[in-house]
Amino acid sequence: RAKETGRNTFAFFQQDMQEISDRRLLHEKSLHRAVSKSEFEVYYQPQNDAEGAIIGAEALLRWHDPEHGFIPPDEFIPLAEEIGLIHDIGSIVFNQAARQVAKWLEEGVWQEGWRISINVSPLQFLHPNLLADIDDALRESGLPASAIDIEITENVLMADSELALEKMAQIRKLGIHLSIDDFGTGYSSLKYLKSLPIDRLKIDQSFVRDLINDPSDRAIVMAIIAMADALDVNVLAEGVETQAHLDQLKSMRCFTYQGYFFGRPMPAAQFVELCNKHQAHT
Ligand code: C2E
Ligand code: MG
Ligand code: MG
Ligand code: MG
Repeated sequence: RAKETGRNTFAFFQQDMQEISDRRLLHEKSLHRAVSKSEFEVYYQPQNDAEGAIIGAEALLRWHDPEHGFIPPDEFIPLAEEIGLIHDIGSIVFNQAARQVAKWLEEGVWQEGWRISINVSPLQFLHPNLLADIDDALRESGLPASAIDIEITENVLMADSELALEKMAQIRKLGIHLSIDDFGTGYSSLKYLKSLPIDRLKIDQSFVRDLINDPSDRAIVMAIIAMADALDVNVLAEGVETQAHLDQLKSMRCFTYQGYFFGRPMPAAQFVELCNKHQAHT
């Protein structure tokens, strides 16, 4: 009986593994095609200040596979890293976003001083061509470097902290801004944090979600804000979904935000409408 169960379990396990690897293979093939055909669209999610004014946006990549539909970035970005496509995808994002924002800047949709945040995964960040690619995107689009904010996670320090620090310094030298994304969830060494040439910490949304009811989340957020203050870097809260979140964060002296309360990630055309609506109110 035990033997049988064991065998069945193994059979199920095998089937699961088969399904996982089938799905993977499928995505792997599709992802190669998606890169060659550029089947990606950058969405924009507003970032706002305490008055509700827009201060920039985060570029969030969307992949619409013609056969399998929408595949979320949490699924295809790790795969892209694994199979060596992350660099190509990163270039697509930089080029698409830089060209779009440069055009908006010209049209007066995008205000001077706003920043476009672009996610860069750890492997992508350490790749030797990153700076040249960013430079290409800037030159080709005419977008000033100071309009760009690169979001990295604490994990970039794990692979090769010396190289990561050097990269950060080079990026800052170009005039590009640097944020630490999902702050509080990764490898947080206070020792490194002190020496990082960064502009901003983004408080991870997992601490914001239950901010109202969970005293330990509140304590963590308070500590992050105090630390950012002491290190003289800006702090932005992610995952702000309600007025209550906003009020709580304001009372804790966090004054910049991103989240569904202000707007979901949206296609370019919709972001323009949002900006126009804001302009009409000021
Ligand atoms: P992230 O950089 O931390 O982006 C924030 C994620 O939280 C986005 O998910 C966004 O849609 C979601 N979000 C924003 N506001 C709220 C809110 O109020 N409530 C909730 N529940 N969620 C909110 P998304 O777009 O699915 O992206 C997931 C992750 O995929 C990103 O996390 C980022 O790590 C990665 N990613 C997305 N685009 C790119 C890209 O172009 N390059 C790289 N390397 N990674 C990317
Ligand atoms: Mg991000
Ligand atoms: Mg984040
Ligand atoms: Mg994330």
